[in-house]
Amino acid sequence: MLNRNPRIAALKAGYLFPEIARRRREFAASHPEDAARPETRIISLGVGNTTEPILPVINEGLVDGARRLARAETYTGYSDEGLAELREGISKTFYGGAFSAGEIFISDGAKCDIGRLQLLFGAGTRAAVQDPSYPVYVDGSVLIGAAGASVSDEGYAGISYLPCTAENAYFPDLDPLPPNALLYFCSPNNPTGAAADKAQLGLLVQTALKKGALIIYDAAYAEYIRDGALPKTIFEIPGAEECAVEVNSFSKPAGFTGVRLGWTVVPKALKYAGGESVNADWHRVTGTIFNGASNIAQSGGLAALTPGGLREIRELCDFYLGNARLIRGALEKLGIVCVGGDNSPYIWARFPGRDSWDVFAEILEKCRVVTTPGSGFGPSGRSFIRFSAFGHRADVEEAAGRLAKLG
Ligand SMILES: *Cc1c(COP(=O)(O)O)cnc(C)c1O
Repeated sequence: MLNRNPRIAALKAGYLFPEIARRRREFAASHPEDAARPETRIISLGVGNTTEPILPVINEGLVDGARRLARAETYTGYSDEGLAELREGISKTFYGGAFSAGEIFISDGAKCDIGRLQLLFGAGTRAAVQDPSYPVYVDGSVLIGAAGASVSDEGYAGISYLPCTAENAYFPDLDPLPPNALLYFCSPNNPTGAAADKAQLGLLVQTALKKGALIIYDAAYAEYIRDGALPKTIFEIPGAEECAVEVNSFSKPAGFTGVRLGWTVVPKALKYAGGESVNADWHRVTGTIFNGASNIAQSGGLAALTPGGLREIRELCDFYLGNARLIRGALEKLGIVCVGGDNSPYIWARFPGRDSWDVFAEILEKCRVVTTPGSGFGPSGRSFIRFSAFGHRADVEEAAGRLAKLG
């Protein structure tokens, strides 16, 4: 039989969410009487998965997309890098028309594109991440062979972890960034909920240009930004088109986690060290291993860009931000120091001197609430818990009430 890819063996055991699910099952099995009582049934504020229905204007776009497939006059097959109308609509809606359709690539989601983008750079690449960070940046680097073989509690030897802590207000010191690195940057951040301001992103772009870094900027939560002074895209910063690609998604703003639709902006001005076009290579990679997003999903995306669709995006994000306020309020009442939840659906709560898996266990035991231990996102998350605001309002209200038991 074939040998297993050693890079898969190098992935840290117990990927975070299966491990949380296992602990939840174990807890539920040892408390069989709990599930039947409303006050002790387990509520999850753990995963970053949307819970609320897709709103009507956008949903009608999806339905219309399906209907079109049933008629010869409107039937479509492969759409390659996406419907031109959708690519132009995204440029106009989110980037002030700064990009041509050829610089916007429609995908089946941001995570999928993050995985595929790594193919552009290969095994010798030095990767750098915010610490803590969304797991696919590190795990995808492991799969591509860019993380090095050695791994410890401090992470993979081949990856530069840039700590984001209370001391630096969750924006990393960029001095340790190695030259010519692939830098993953997420804002508003998952898991910390912190959103970088213009000065911080300006510094990020300046540093990338100076050190030859290419930034993969993950803006999946941009539509959650409510502070009008905060940038919603890296391309608000001059020079970013020479050092960054941006991945984004309809998943969190429109409830498309199960529909699957995102996009990646690859500016034509972005060049490798040798002067070759990154845009041309991305065209080549997506054409080789990806055959385009669902045309039904793209029809939903078009509806999301109409005035009614954009109102629905705002309404849906406002709903989750309302959940976030309930959770953060409950934690702060106990004197627990938090960030996030104001421009993102995540709250990052600090438990100084404690291990996040112990705090996870305590919250599950006392409140019957599932959370995410910060250490699952990187070494700097060790004493933090991530609370997710994705949930039905009644569940979030119940969970927020129960958090008082931590006091
Ligand atoms: C949820 C999420 C995404 C979205 O991924 P999709 O594949 O588009 O569903 C991307 N980045 C971060 C940080 C996320 O939390």
